[in-house]
Amino acid sequence: MLPSDNIQCPFCWETIEIVYEPDEGTDEFVCDCTVCCHPINFTVVDDGMGGTYLVAQSDDF
Ligand SMILES: [Zn+2]
Repeated sequence: MLPSDNIQCPFCWETIEIVYEPDEGTDEFVCDCTVCCHPINFTVVDDGMGGTYLVAQSDDF
């Protein structure tokens, strides 16, 4: 089962659930917000306890 994380969209501030697939060597990916459809950059962060969580980054330049 793929991990998922609830994050707050940096563009519309809605909380959305993102299902992601941890992949060695790929800790960044882009996924469109399901509410405002704005692409969000995500970074997969190791929590140090065998799990991962997501950090959303607004790349609004
Ligand atoms: Zn959004």
